[in-house]
Amino acid sequence: MPIEYYSTNRNILASARRKPFTKAVSFATALLMGQAPDEGLFMPNAIPRLDQNAVLALKGLPYSESAKLVANLFLADEITVKQLERVVEESYNFAVPMERVYDRKYIMRLDGGPTASFKDFAARMMARWMSLLNDRHLNILVATSGDTGSAIGSAFHHLEGITVTILYPRDEVSELQQKQLDTIGDNVQALSVDGKFDDCQQMVKQAFADENLADYNLNSANSINFGRIIPQIIYYIYAYAQLANSTEKIIFSVPSGNFGNALGCEYARRMGLPVKRLLMPVNGNDEFPHFLATGHYQIISPSRACLSNAMNVGNPSNLARFFDLYGGTIDREGFVHRQPDISAMRKNLFSVSISDEKTVATIKAIYDKYGILLEPHGAVAWCGLEEYLQVVGDEPLCVALETAHPAKFPEAIKKACGITPTSPQALRDLSQKQGVAVRIATDYEEFKSYLTRNLPK
Ligand SMILES: *Cc1c(COP(=O)(O)O)cnc(C)c1O
Repeated sequence: MPIEYYSTNRNILASARRKPFTKAVSFATALLMGQAPDEGLFMPNAIPRLDQNAVLALKGLPYSESAKLVANLFLADEITVKQLERVVEESYNFAVPMERVYDRKYIMRLDGGPTASFKDFAARMMARWMSLLNDRHLNILVATSGDTGSAIGSAFHHLEGITVTILYPRDEVSELQQKQLDTIGDNVQALSVDGKFDDCQQMVKQAFADENLADYNLNSANSINFGRIIPQIIYYIYAYAQLANSTEKIIFSVPSGNFGNALGCEYARRMGLPVKRLLMPVNGNDEFPHFLATGHYQIISPSRACLSNAMNVGNPSNLARFFDLYGGTIDREGFVHRQPDISAMRKNLFSVSISDEKTVATIKAIYDKYGILLEPHGAVAWCGLEEYLQVVGDEPLCVALETAHPAKFPEAIKKACGITPTSPQALRDLSQKQGVAVRIATDYEEFKSYLTRNLPK
């Protein structure tokens, strides 16, 4: 039976605003719809099982072999093995280093992609699946406050049948981010908006709702697409295969914002990977550790501005998927329709809030002690692991995830360690490139006129 995808909101009571979506759809449909019509998130109705021997056989093999295993388990009914292999080879043409800190405590660096953020892993594979599975030209619109936009833009660069338009707030992104967004080019155009991130998002929303644009096959490629979860299962399996002895258990520490990355680990465990505990440290946005401790969920709005800025999330979108996996239901506004099994969650998950002070102190301590450089997100992961080990005692095999390259956070690193991190090649190449952003005002009509003049139908 092929895997089908259902909505996390399928069990909510119908209201004037929202009618639960009770059907199940194919992966291709879920991928191209992005979100269910009832604003729920798509979930697979079955989780494929890993063959333990197949996992152990990945030891010493390139990352792409782990990727093929996982992609095949989820998608073999809808995409041919040959196509899947090609997508994997094109998506993962960079290294995934594992750095030993002490004993068998490791840092997995997920910053080797073209935009030096772990979001490249998911965006590159999802983009290629969309290019394969769409049957007419796709026009993708993205509003970004920085890193997601460049990962998406870079992932779709040169892909057939797709045009990408990225809106960013001119005065709210860093110089590096602006350069990353402006210089992609070809089928990816950045619009530099004289306004705030919320204005960008509002204009994109309005375009999706605009009947006059219905012929343009607009799509969002947004962060809640299940197409971005499958690629985020792979590196847990890869890490386990490289590091574990036969069937021993492993601990992962995942710096968490919208919980998509951690969700990949939760699926890996449910597929049979021997994950003893999934640590989900957060920054000052502590709604989730608070929920685990008290059973009471309260969103944080507006979210708190912390150093690890890609994790400044006061109501994680993928929490709906965690709730669903543990038998609960929560909607987009953070209203709990049914409580999940909290004792099961506490058994498998662990979460703690790491302050900015601790984040900086961790960057400094791990650099001084081991000569290892972390940026704020990776430091939250490492510090979360340390706090966990203090609570439970030692665990033999642990991996903390570093999700961005330190060179993307030179000020924080300078402050903590007194040095300036070396940029990876991908970021160094940027200085040679010329940007071609189109400047627009916060004005929907101007935006719409840009779209109708430039987008193919
Ligand atoms: C997006 C992001 C995160 C958070 O990942 P989620 O899947 O949203 O939990 C962590 N670190 C970096 C660098 C990111 O860009």
